[in-house]
Amino acid sequence: MAKNKKTSQNENPSGVAWSYPPVVAVLGHVDHGKTSLLDAIRKTNVAAREHGGITQGIGASSVEITVEGVKKRITFIDTPGHEAFTQMRGRGTQAADMALLIVSSVDGVMPQTKESIEILKKAQIPFIVVLTKADVADRQEDKAKGQLVKEGVLLEGYGGDVPVISVSAKTGTNIKELLELISLVFDMKQKPVLDDKLKGIVIEARLDERSGPRATVVIKSGILSVRQEVDCDGIKARVRTIISDKGVHLDKATIGEAVEVLGFEKVPAVGGIVLSAEQAAAKPAPEATPVVTPAPTFHSGQEAMPMPEDFLNAEEVPTLSIVLCADNQGSLEAIVRSLPKDINIALAKTGDITTTDILLAKSINAIVLGFNTRTRPEIVKFAAQEKVLAKNYKIIYELISEIKDVLEGKQLALVEEIFGRAKILASFPFEKTKVLGIKVLEGRVARGDKIRLIRKEEIIGESTISSVRTGKNVVSKIVEGQEGGVILSPSLDFTIGDMLICHG
Ligand code: GDP
Repeated sequence: MAKNKKTSQNENPSGVAWSYPPVVAVLGHVDHGKTSLLDAIRKTNVAAREHGGITQGIGASSVEITVEGVKKRITFIDTPGHEAFTQMRGRGTQAADMALLIVSSVDGVMPQTKESIEILKKAQIPFIVVLTKADVADRQEDKAKGQLVKEGVLLEGYGGDVPVISVSAKTGTNIKELLELISLVFDMKQKPVLDDKLKGIVIEARLDERSGPRATVVIKSGILSVRQEVDCDGIKARVRTIISDKGVHLDKATIGEAVEVLGFEKVPAVGGIVLSAEQAAAKPAPEATPVVTPAPTFHSGQEAMPMPEDFLNAEEVPTLSIVLCADNQGSLEAIVRSLPKDINIALAKTGDITTTDILLAKSINAIVLGFNTRTRPEIVKFAAQEKVLAKNYKIIYELISEIKDVLEGKQLALVEEIFGRAKILASFPFEKTKVLGIKVLEGRVARGDKIRLIRKEEIIGESTISSVRTGKNVVSKIVEGQEGGVILSPSLDFTIGDMLICHG
């Protein structure tokens, strides 16, 4: 114990000072305000403004603050999924030094809040409870705090020492104070003894059609340099480019920074540990057993497509086969890890759904599930023609829960029929919402239909048609060639020119 406590600078073999940026993970239930909070934080950040405030989607962002005249930086990681977070812990090294548990002061503790609490308890890293939406009149902060205490979160003021702060991303209330609090909590944290050997953790990875594999790496010790030879669990790279979250090309990245790295020969796994090539060669044994084993079903592109007969010869007949396409390796692995065990994953890849995916699914009687992929109209058409269900999701939780529904026998939930297609021509304000002026291009649009809002081949959102009118008359449906007005519930952020797809 005493030995562990002596983590002073003197004992640090390389003399690394402790003034490195904390790496902060942000967890919480969907819609509780994670994205808005990170946006508000970036807006208050001077450094980002100097760079024109253009944030690159690398799954992490760095902000600069001044505390008592001293400039400090904080790195936020927007974890691709809770499971990915847990899996990183399995490697013995945490990507994050600490975390923010985001809880809406309006809605309080919800299922993913509970999941996040479990993850934080296991991770044993310090965290701050951030109660969001402090500007909303009917917020219930005390109720939310009570629920958290009930879940075992020992809050300050409730007999514990977990700091809690109320913020509003909308008005900016307490955003600066939150950043100072993060800095304070990190300063008080007992730091591990570091050496100067490179150690990084992959938190996001994907295959870019043009530039090849791109991985976001959090540096936990040492320095990563351009042209350096590195290794991530056997996947080699001669570092070609290092890019910051602001899109700036760097020569080097060091402890506490999250950067995008180009030059890997293949897409590394999320949770993978990046070491210098010499280090990796010197000690293959302890680090070489990745918890995240890239299963044979993982493909970072179209190569090595499994043949249908591989599945036909399978000994067990699984209840449901799926072809899974996700926007990046992080999401893909998070989804695979959360799927029920008795699912046959015929193919899991990063990238959009293609005709090959549809044909593979058809040959083995599988369904195609996309996560944050672009769905081109011709693919939707091809899938319908081949009678293969291809569906895209924006929330991992929804994808998983629909699959679980199917396994429980609720097959119909996934059977999707396209009833009609309409183009949005106009928008009219109506009471507290908006009426969409549409023209039906195919089929029909009816009250009660589920709809998908499509903009330039991308799915913007899902909703339901709650009202249909032609002129002033309320009707149950409008058909091909007709124009009319519809109201969506919940309303979506549409623009003129977007398409509505009505489905079952
Ligand atoms: P996430 O799913 O956790 O990333 O949540 P979002 O950041 O997307 O927020 C979900 C919804 O809550 C959005 O409609 C936001 O506009 C809203 N929201 C987020 N933060 C605030 C806030 O501080 N005040 C108010 N009034 N609304 C907020």
